[in-house]
Amino acid sequence: TSDVAAQDPAIFDLIAREAERQRTGLELIASENFTSAAVRAAQGSVLTNKYAEGYPGKRWYGGCEVVDEVERLAIERVKQLFGAEWANVQPHSGSSANLAVYNALIEPGDTVLGMDLSHGGHLTHGNPVNFSGLRYRIVGYKVNPETELIDMQEVRRLAHEHQPKMIIAGASAYSRIIDFAAFRQVADEVGAILFADIAHIAGLIAAGLHPNALPHAHVVASTTHKTLRGPRGGIILSNDPELGAKIDRAVFPGYQGGPLEHVIAAKAVAFGEALRPEFREYAARVIRNAQALAGAFQDRGYRVVSGGTDNHLLVLDLRPQGLNGTKATKRLDANDITISKSTLPYDTEKILHGGGIRIGTPAVTTRGMVESDMPTIADLIDRALKGEDVKAEVHAFAGGFPLP
Ligand code: PLP
Repeated sequence: TSDVAAQDPAIFDLIAREAERQRTGLELIASENFTSAAVRAAQGSVLTNKYAEGYPGKRWYGGCEVVDEVERLAIERVKQLFGAEWANVQPHSGSSANLAVYNALIEPGDTVLGMDLSHGGHLTHGNPVNFSGLRYRIVGYKVNPETELIDMQEVRRLAHEHQPKMIIAGASAYSRIIDFAAFRQVADEVGAILFADIAHIAGLIAAGLHPNALPHAHVVASTTHKTLRGPRGGIILSNDPELGAKIDRAVFPGYQGGPLEHVIAAKAVAFGEALRPEFREYAARVIRNAQALAGAFQDRGYRVVSGGTDNHLLVLDLRPQGLNGTKATKRLDANDITISKSTLPYDTEKILHGGGIRIGTPAVTTRGMVESDMPTIADLIDRALKGEDVKAEVHAFAGGFPLP
């Protein structure tokens, strides 16, 4: 960044301020993480100068021999990581990966069965203002009101009733194991495509700590920047090369032009990191920390949705505390604790506010926090939610853990 300092003090100052915010605050947004210096360096490299429309060996531009190798390496590594036969590493984001899947595999007006958004699904799984909700007929499955777990009998009932072309398994705010094999069985019963969106849990799957979606789903999409700890971006995987060829065309020339080869290089670096044994240890700690944090909140009288977590996140119901997601986010933000507000299954709060918050451990675990640090985090959040000023304590605590 020294070149930025010399040439553009305004932007340099903003980068420095953001670095300080990340260093002093407690980062608990379940979809965020801290990338390694190597990932950031690859993304900040001269590869950003190169146009490479097309795929390795089949480009529209000259001079692609080096970026071809970069992209091939990224593809090989991600195939190895998830046991996939085919991969596309070009989508600019998770949402654009999902767009390519829809465009390649179904037609506008087709029925799609996905997780209801207020129960944990993502915008691209059918929000009425998103392309998914605008273009397709969306049917949402809800969690069981008692257990707050995905109810496969309900998924089956809806699938048989609505005969969807595609079923989506995957979520943004669901803390339990997703049974991809059971989803595939339902998909086969009604002749639907099973699309697994593993954006949140990709790092846990890569580490072998959540069942892999790939042997079951026809197609899998993910972001690379959440538990997987890579640069912001998307990937698509499949074991069916014919489906893969359709998806390749849907990405380019379907709706993207030149791929971001600098980001693809950073993805390759992150995939390389995730293939190492240390990453498995990291992912295991992410889960243990989330479980310790859920327990620490329960010890303080909070209700954790579904009673706990099997993955990297937990959702707290804050209605018993007389709060909602918006109010809680405000109080926590004022203390430099960042989380995201969340709707709850069968929420009684307005969707705009949500009845609770979603908390994740991927970022704090990257900083080196362990299970015994989780009661401290729960305590700081509890006191901040009660209106106490804990900002100085947050800075002192977070400052003790280095950023990569
Ligand atoms: N799919 C799921 C399940 C997600 O949680 C997200 C991001 O929050 C996305 C897709 C979209 O990713 P992006 O924000 O990169 O478009």
